[in-house]
Amino acid sequence: MKPKVSIILTSYNKPDTVHLAIESVLAQKYDNWELLIMDDHSNDKTKRIIKGFLQDSRIQYFDSGIRDEDRHKTTRYATLINEALEKVSGDYISYLTDDDIYLPERLSEMTTILNNSPSYGVVYSKQLVRKIDQSGRTVYEKVRETNGILTKPQNLVDHCSVMHRASLLPLILAKYGSYWDDSPEYWHNGDAAFWARLAEWSPFYPIPKVLDICLKTPDSFQELNAFMPKELPTGLVVLSTNENTFLIDGNIRRKIDEAAFRMLKYDRKQLVKVHDPLLYQYREGAPIEKSVFSNAKLFPNYRFIKCGKSIFYTEGGCARPIESADALRRLKADLKDFILVAPEMLEDFQIGKPISRTFDQKNPIPEGKLFLYKRHFFVSGNGELKPMEAKVLRKLKYDKSLAIPLSKYEFASFPKGESLKWEVVRWKDKN
Ligand code: UDP
Ligand code: MG
Repeated sequence: MKPKVSIILTSYNKPDTVHLAIESVLAQKYDNWELLIMDDHSNDKTKRIIKGFLQDSRIQYFDSGIRDEDRHKTTRYATLINEALEKVSGDYISYLTDDDIYLPERLSEMTTILNNSPSYGVVYSKQLVRKIDQSGRTVYEKVRETNGILTKPQNLVDHCSVMHRASLLPLILAKYGSYWDDSPEYWHNGDAAFWARLAEWSPFYPIPKVLDICLKTPDSFQELNAFMPKELPTGLVVLSTNENTFLIDGNIRRKIDEAAFRMLKYDRKQLVKVHDPLLYQYREGAPIEKSVFSNAKLFPNYRFIKCGKSIFYTEGGCARPIESADALRRLKADLKDFILVAPEMLEDFQIGKPISRTFDQKNPIPEGKLFLYKRHFFVSGNGELKPMEAKVLRKLKYDKSLAIPLSKYEFASFPKGESLKWEVVRWKDKN
């Protein structure tokens, strides 16, 4: 009897590539496999594509049914893999993501080595890394090489380039109480955390051949997460992986529909795509629809409204009058940003503190804006100025030329909030 390989495919909203991963399994020269598709409650488009493959009896499909607001709580793919490892029936285990393609000889090459070398617990291979753009065109390619027999494979070997014996799993479970470590801080390299566990029982033996192609897509977690701060600044308008638009307002996210998006003078070019585990940490607030024009309580914050000759900035559910032409100039507001509202609508607003020419505790800075002090950038929110790294500023598509310079006195008048910076926690060896 040929040993059976259990392939665990984790999937989430990659309708443009998930079929490539599944087809690459179906095209394997080696045929004794089972494929467990662990879908993290993808959108309908993705699910429809996957369901087209389920007539093959070797393929099983599981939908995690995860609630969006729970996504950030664990490293999701590790959680899904742990669930799959409870269900597998194979002798060998192999991991696949929804943006990776196994070459046809991947399973045959790997199983041959494991069959012939009973002391090998784990094998790994070379990988072709292909960065593609939104339309699927190749931006660059490089080969991730093998590096001999590895006793510390962490961060050297990709998720999709490994096969190991199922017999190692009970040993890991007995020692750690789980297979993969799904703590959320390892989103970046949950595979490294698991490789470290595996390597306690077997080094990783190289197969110096390219056996899979890893596609780096613009929507991949790493890509979306690069330079993204842990907290989104208030006033930011973002795009989810499902192409929905949201306004971040404090710790609330408000979905903006298309008509309202236009009427409220939001700019498509400024939308920042964010990954769902981050976005859905924000509570859902009232949607921003056309109806906000007839109910001031629903009107979004951080917009300029104009009624007759008066201009206001919406903030904290109020309309703050802009005190003078000088004050308006300072805000670098553009005529095209002004949203005209009818006098009856304006009457519906509570009038907030005026925005004056200079800012201090009595004349608070407008919230949700970008400021500049001594070449450092800050965003205002919650009465504070939050420092923002230059890389984060670019990622969030702030226009530097619109930053409002602050005087020393003004800068000193406001408390400084926690810095918006990019931090990536990499799994590191504790030894
Ligand atoms: N993934 C998941 N749930 C999510 C987001 C991602 O299960 O909410 C899975 C995804 O399907 C993929 C893996 O996590 O199999 C890695 O995601 P991605 O390819 O986006 O990240 P990257 O390749 O940039 O690390
Ligand atoms: Mg990926």
